[in-house]
Amino acid sequence: MKSDKGFEYNKKRHYNVAVVGGGIAGISAALSAARLGKKVLLAESSYILGGLATSGLVTIYLPLCDGLGHQLSFGIAEELLRLSISRGAEGDYPDAWFNNCEDCVAKRSSQRYLTRFNPHVFAVLCERLLRENGVDILYGATMSKLSKNKSGDSVSSITLITKTDSYVIYSDSFVDCTGDATVFYHFGAETFLPYHKNGNAAWYYELINGEYRLKQIGSCFYISSDKVNEGISGLDGEENSAEVIKSHSIILDDFIKNGDVSKTHALATLPTIPQVRMTRMINGVYRIKKTDDKKNFDTSVGLFGSWLEKGPAFELPLETLYSSKIKNLCAAGRCISVMGDDMWDITRVIPVCAVSGEAAGVLAALSSDFSNIYVRDVQSVLSDRNIPLHLNEIGL
Ligand SMILES: Cc1cc2nc3c(=O)[nH]c(=O)nc-3n(C[C@H](O)[C@H](O)[C@H](O)COP(=O)(O)OP(=O)(O)OC[C@H]3O[C@@H](n4cnc5c(N)ncnc54)[C@H](O)[C@@H]3O)c2cc1C
Repeated sequence: MKSDKGFEYNKKRHYNVAVVGGGIAGISAALSAARLGKKVLLAESSYILGGLATSGLVTIYLPLCDGLGHQLSFGIAEELLRLSISRGAEGDYPDAWFNNCEDCVAKRSSQRYLTRFNPHVFAVLCERLLRENGVDILYGATMSKLSKNKSGDSVSSITLITKTDSYVIYSDSFVDCTGDATVFYHFGAETFLPYHKNGNAAWYYELINGEYRLKQIGSCFYISSDKVNEGISGLDGEENSAEVIKSHSIILDDFIKNGDVSKTHALATLPTIPQVRMTRMINGVYRIKKTDDKKNFDTSVGLFGSWLEKGPAFELPLETLYSSKIKNLCAAGRCISVMGDDMWDITRVIPVCAVSGEAAGVLAALSSDFSNIYVRDVQSVLSDRNIPLHLNEIGL
């Protein structure tokens, strides 16, 4: 036996870009920054990439198009969709979008550019992709503390707690992809909560008679404001635990309706993170809103549509990703700066998280003082990646 020397606290590491949270936004941000030659860390509190999309079993990659035959989201958003089904799709294979066709617009108007993927395969493929691009992944690492610089306008380091030790990460810039704006919150920046709480969702996979299927019980759609005592914020540990226990119970009761476990019947996969939609967002320099549909922004860094209806098409202004008060911290994913729960419901989904993630990765790679960033530099990197940034570039 060897004597145990005990924990090593505060191991120091240095990066150009540190991304906190390995969901779709974090994967996209880390990949995007690494492709600019930066030394990138992706810290994730669980031991799998993908966040809600994989651990939360939200396995529908919602549309990259406007529902009228026009593709809006490109770049990493499209790359990840294709990657997610590169070893096969669970459903909704987007043929009309993958094949050239004579009547493409007609076909693409009736089939939206979305798909269904397997969460486990997708998670491992994302991990490989990030490693191939040189991203350091630190699993089991929860960001719990933050230090500011002397003037109090930048993050100088964050502390990640792992199994038995802790890391102090110094970085030129940081990207908050926690889904809950946790890094901004720790900084003491202004953040916003949704008006509506999250309803219950209990999505799981069941294997039955050779069929492996996603059971979508509850939708977590937001609770109407007159039911103030129902639903959860998604931010409170005890509340989340109670909700997860409730979901587990709903899942088991649903599963045993089809009989007990047998060779042909298994409860295949449980979600391993709370299935919550909107929890907390940053107060950015700009808050995008529903009436910005078809609006042109000089500072646009990507395009996206609405999964809820056909037609809407938005340009994403860079200013939705950072606040005026912090120079080297930006956000991506479901916690970017929006106005109103209706708009939040549009921006929180997988393709939009990838669009904001890619843009945030470029921003963080190019600058550690966003107040002095030349938007054109960010845009030029994205344009070089063949990403349309304005609706007129795709004929809208
Ligand atoms: C019931 C339900 C159904 C949905 N259906 C769909 C759908 O069909 N299609 C679709 O496109 N979208 C759907 N969504 C929404 C979508 O899946 C998510 O909003 C999106 O995947 C969020 O991505 P994200 O990267 O911003 O955040 P998340 O997926 O929340 O990822 C955040 C990551 O950060 C990690 N993290 C958090 N805090 C810390 C910390 N302090 N330190 C380190 N790591 C941390 C988490 O472990 C997680 O991996 C649904 C959501 C719900 C709840």
